[in-house]
Amino acid sequence: MESRTVVLYPSPGIGHLVPMVELAKLIHTHHPTLSVVILITPAPFETGSTNKYIKTVSITTPSITFHHLPTITYPPDFSFEFQNLAFGIPELYNPIVHDILVTISEKSTIKGVILDFFTNAAFQVSKTLNLPTYYFYTGGASGLCVFLHLPTIHNTTSGNIKDLKIYFNIPGVPPIHSSDMPSLLFERESNSYKNFMKTASNMAKSSGIIVNSFVGLEERAVETLQDGKSIPEGPTPPIYLLGPLIACGDQVDPSKNECLKWLDSQPSKSVVFLCFGSMGVFKKEQLKEIAIGLEKSGQRFLWVVRNPPPDGEKGSSSGSKEVDLDDFLPEGFLARTVDKGMVVKNWAPQPAILGHDSVGGFVSHCGWNSSLEAVVAGVPMVAWPLYAEQKLNRAYLVQEIKVAVAVRMSPDGFVTAEAVEEKVRELMEGEEGRVVRERILEMSGRAKAAVADGGSSRVEFSKLTQPWIDLQI
Ligand code: UDP
Repeated sequence: MESRTVVLYPSPGIGHLVPMVELAKLIHTHHPTLSVVILITPAPFETGSTNKYIKTVSITTPSITFHHLPTITYPPDFSFEFQNLAFGIPELYNPIVHDILVTISEKSTIKGVILDFFTNAAFQVSKTLNLPTYYFYTGGASGLCVFLHLPTIHNTTSGNIKDLKIYFNIPGVPPIHSSDMPSLLFERESNSYKNFMKTASNMAKSSGIIVNSFVGLEERAVETLQDGKSIPEGPTPPIYLLGPLIACGDQVDPSKNECLKWLDSQPSKSVVFLCFGSMGVFKKEQLKEIAIGLEKSGQRFLWVVRNPPPDGEKGSSSGSKEVDLDDFLPEGFLARTVDKGMVVKNWAPQPAILGHDSVGGFVSHCGWNSSLEAVVAGVPMVAWPLYAEQKLNRAYLVQEIKVAVAVRMSPDGFVTAEAVEEKVRELMEGEEGRVVRERILEMSGRAKAAVADGGSSRVEFSKLTQPWIDLQI
């Protein structure tokens, strides 16, 4: 029989890679005759968690091939600024990706190339080779409504988004304040802004857009996309809602993990979990406020803390360099809260923690994977966005999907101890918390139904993949 291949090209950050790999697993499970190849670019930033994750998947699912692209010499004028890396690196890899696709095509029919929005540069390559090209939008349907609307915003406004101070009325989502847009979009002349616009317009010309969401979660946004109202200028490509595609919690041995063992000793639904994604880092002053607020709230807690950046810097954590927690938490905090709380450094197995019966609330940075994991586990959230598109996610999660309450923050993002105390207590004991808990439990049920046999996400998955395996096509 003719060999067929699907090529997936994710961005190597864990939040983009994991859902793409979950899609690969799904394709492999349902269509074992299709070969699945995942292209991985080496990243010039921290890749410990990515490498470990790829190693685990390679062992547990050997049928998925990871094709590690070779390291390249960066041009002397290449900017290693964070805002340039995500789009900039894939651009440099276009010639290599071209050759790989040609080589694969010599032995197998490529039925689809699936791009992340950060690997948009390869759209040009796969179109030149006449390959059906899809995008995997790792956010939700509401996020996609905003994303596809960007060219319209570009054409109907002038100046930098950061100066506009207006609400955008975008079909499918609540009014969005300009300051809640991702900061990569703030400057009209920046490369990141231009790349977002290019990607949005390429997506509109693609063979289809896969979304990590499900029909019952974001009804208004889904309807808007399906009715083609997100792109006023032209047709919307087919939209496939295949989610939730999330890492499962069963890869951790509960008897060997300290957090899970500690949770076993806590009462049902009593613990609030605080975790801020793969990159969330707070300055010392903010960590102190969180600690004070948590202690005053009287709630049990499990808190993942990353090292604060060195004094005077606002960027990334001081990494794996050992820093004593007592150095930046209030004096005596750890000793005083020893019976009620646990503080973990750097990383904890979030999906398994959210799925634990003792967890009753989640203070989250609103990353889309984290949000979906909370929805599946039925754990209500306090929304505390930090970077990327997380302020947008807060708007959908709080106002539209109604599974989170928003913490009070100053315009520069600082959250006081009083605000932490108030929202954590409200979430765990208050009326607002009760309402979002009920709502997220309903959504959890819908999520499970969506991915069960015959559920909406499985039906959409068949629509996407059937043409790849039909012999006559
Ligand atoms: N994550 C985890 N443990 C941590 C921090 C993060 O397992 O201590 C996982 C989390 O479960 C999620 C992913 O990392 O699957 C983060 O993705 P998300 O989209 O929420 O945020 P990002 O890191 O991309 O900002």
